[in-house]
Amino acid sequence: MPERDLLMIPGPVMCHPAVLRALSRPVMGHVTPEFINIFGETLERLQEVLKGEKSQAVVVAGSGTLAMDMTAASLLEPGDKVVVLNTGVFGDRFAAICERYGAEITTLQAELGDVVPSEEMEKALQQGKYKLLTVTHVDTSTGVIMDIEAVARLAAKHGVLSVVDGICAAAGAEVRFDEWGIDVYVTASQKALGVPPGLAILMVGSRALTAYEARRTPVTNYFADLGNWLPIMRAYQGRERAYFATPAVNLICALHVSLELILAEGLENCYRRHELFSQAFKAGMTALDLQLVPVNLQVAAPTLTAIYYPDGVDADLLTKIRERGVTVTGGIHPQIRDRYFRVGHMGAITANDLLATIGAIEGALHASYYEFDLGAGLAAAQERLAGA
Ligand SMILES: *Cc1c(COP(=O)(O)O)cnc(C)c1O
Repeated sequence: MPERDLLMIPGPVMCHPAVLRALSRPVMGHVTPEFINIFGETLERLQEVLKGEKSQAVVVAGSGTLAMDMTAASLLEPGDKVVVLNTGVFGDRFAAICERYGAEITTLQAELGDVVPSEEMEKALQQGKYKLLTVTHVDTSTGVIMDIEAVARLAAKHGVLSVVDGICAAAGAEVRFDEWGIDVYVTASQKALGVPPGLAILMVGSRALTAYEARRTPVTNYFADLGNWLPIMRAYQGRERAYFATPAVNLICALHVSLELILAEGLENCYRRHELFSQAFKAGMTALDLQLVPVNLQVAAPTLTAIYYPDGVDADLLTKIRERGVTVTGGIHPQIRDRYFRVGHMGAITANDLLATIGAIEGALHASYYEFDLGAGLAAAQERLAGA
């Protein structure tokens, strides 16, 4: 793949050159003063980005699924009741993980492309004695975003722990961890945080810590036991040496840089840019008469777009887009897997990357004999980007 091609999938994403340079620096010892300081600052920057200044950030080598696994392993015991708000494939995943640790799952299933209605949540929480609720901030299979502030506040009102899968959202969609009363927010390095894959990231609040301490049985997974990691994270933040399992030193250096870039841009600007690019991209697709998977723009995520193929076009379109120097990806939702494709527009991308992507999609559609006004998608996106 030529080095100037664009990777526009919902993770992993293209990284800022400064982030890649951090990866290639000489490997540091994980308990050297230099690295202790970098890791400590990284945890503090995560507190700033996720607005969890009163809470504990945890960074562990692994993918986002490990962060989900650590949460379930550490907070659940056999027989605990969990309600899963399911807006796509990653709701299925959280249900499967919780079930593995012996929890009883109630799933509130959203209609395809829509969110879970708040009346349904309210009703379920009133009826059941749930210990924990999971919600996917942005479901990467449908491109749907949930209002996690409302969900977290509702869960807190009913004394239920709220666990948010923010893997495809953190740094692309706003989160105010402490203020909204979220109990655990999980994410990963390779999506809007703009770092190569390999880091599982959690923000853990005080109620979740209390629930962990109140366990009656030991955690049945050694590596995923939060109790093994919390003292290590606290030590790094206190600029002290500590060891449980070797951290992914260079990836943490890369995250350290990426978080610095995000904070230098300013969180509000960063969210606004994601929202603007998302609106411009969606306007471009709509101008080509393509239909989006989310049922309306209010529930559509700012970090990616899921688009149905038009009649007569199939996954062969992806190859044609790729021949034009842009990688996008196919569907993963079992109900519509072969009928749609997904484009990620998060992290350190520019308006030029976005326009080049729309141009490649138009070229590929044209080569697929789909009829439309060539340039209509680009024009609609340009207008949106120009604030028209
Ligand atoms: C990507 C993603 C995951 C899985 O993360 P991995 O890093 O692939 O393990 C889970 N949930 C959501 C919402 C995601 O976007």
